[in-house]
Amino acid sequence: MSQFRDEQSSALNASRSEQKIAILGGGYAGLAAAIELNRLGYGDNVTLFDARLRHQKITQWHKLARGRQAHHYEVAFSHLAERFNFRFVHKAIDMKRVIADPAYELGGHFGAIVLAQGSHTPAKPPGVITLDQLRDDAHSQQLVHNLTNKSIAVIGGGPTGVQFAFEFAARGNSVDLYEARDRLLPTFDASLGITALKAAFAAGIRVHLLTEFLRYDNGNILCSTGGKEETRQTQHVLFVPGVKSTPAFTCDVFGRLEYQQGGKFYAAGDNSYIPGRGLNSKSAQAAVRKGQHVARTVFADLTGKQAQEYTYPELGYFVSLGPQNAVGYLLSQKTAFSGPVALFMKEAIEKQYNLYLEGLPVYP
Ligand SMILES: Cc1cc2nc3c(=O)[nH]c(=O)nc-3n(C[C@H](O)[C@H](O)[C@H](O)COP(=O)(O)OP(=O)(O)OC[C@H]3O[C@@H](n4cnc5c(N)ncnc54)[C@H](O)[C@@H]3O)c2cc1C
Repeated sequence: MSQFRDEQSSALNASRSEQKIAILGGGYAGLAAAIELNRLGYGDNVTLFDARLRHQKITQWHKLARGRQAHHYEVAFSHLAERFNFRFVHKAIDMKRVIADPAYELGGHFGAIVLAQGSHTPAKPPGVITLDQLRDDAHSQQLVHNLTNKSIAVIGGGPTGVQFAFEFAARGNSVDLYEARDRLLPTFDASLGITALKAAFAAGIRVHLLTEFLRYDNGNILCSTGGKEETRQTQHVLFVPGVKSTPAFTCDVFGRLEYQQGGKFYAAGDNSYIPGRGLNSKSAQAAVRKGQHVARTVFADLTGKQAQEYTYPELGYFVSLGPQNAVGYLLSQKTAFSGPVALFMKEAIEKQYNLYLEGLPVYP
């Protein structure tokens, strides 16, 4: 009889642990997954692991160069855990080890594991400030916060570099913006890059296209344009030529990984590719929607329901061009516009995300 009871209780424990969900990374994607699982009634089953103590609204990070403090754009995971009923564990997960032996790395068995560790700076040349440093290092944050009337080189003409360059220029800094490709905002329609280039000229930012950063040494930046090397003096270098996701995961249309040994894995955010019609850009918008989507797939798998395909279409994108201007588009990149309406849209998108973190259902 007692052996029967033991077997029954271990079967019950096993089925309980099958219902447990680990989310690795609490950025836009991981947090959206946790919020969605709570909405579906599974909040209590979720453990969210993050190497940081606070969720970072990284899309607002360029405002550090406006003189704002990072804590304005951070929310403690302990608060979010209370609001959305998940358990928070402060831990840097070894992503390769978690794939090989999830129970060991996570300290217990989980029936579903969502990989959502985002991206990181690909390299750290000596002497420069990187985005990863700006995320974690108070000294670098304070430095950027206080930069006025200095000379600054920004490496990378994508959204991050453009946004920082305009903020630096608005505070009286002398700014050089370097981009290896032939235009600013090179991953978007050319019209956005042209608008940004004209606005940069008006703001006094010197833009160097087709120019590759080589190194920064003794206050001198060495660059190459068409094989010709040039040196310029600059006091600070912000190195933001793009981000990398390693490891990155290709899922099925539902957000599941095909690799399923030792646990059921799912991926969402910058580090994931979900084939089909849905948006896969490295953007907060895609990260939130993929996080929600994967949460629904996990829920379907745990409850024996049919999962839905990921089909979220892009709604638009806005890049700020300093405190008074922005450029972007709604629905189609061919409809790009700038000025106060674009700025209003950029701020409205940030406010929408703030409301989401307050618990409002603003992303249906
Ligand atoms: C300056 C800047 C401006 C941007 N502006 C926009 C914008 O205007 N619009 C837009 O759509 N997108 C924008 N983006 C892109 C957008 O921020 C990213 O696409 C989005 O953050 C991706 O979300 P994520 O959840 O995949 O990763 P993240 O938001 O980076 O979150 C990853 C999380 O995982 C944690 N983590 C990482 N490694 C580990 C580990 N080993 N163990 C435990 N935890 C770990 C991190 O601490 C972090 O909390 C911008 C990015 C930057 C940098």
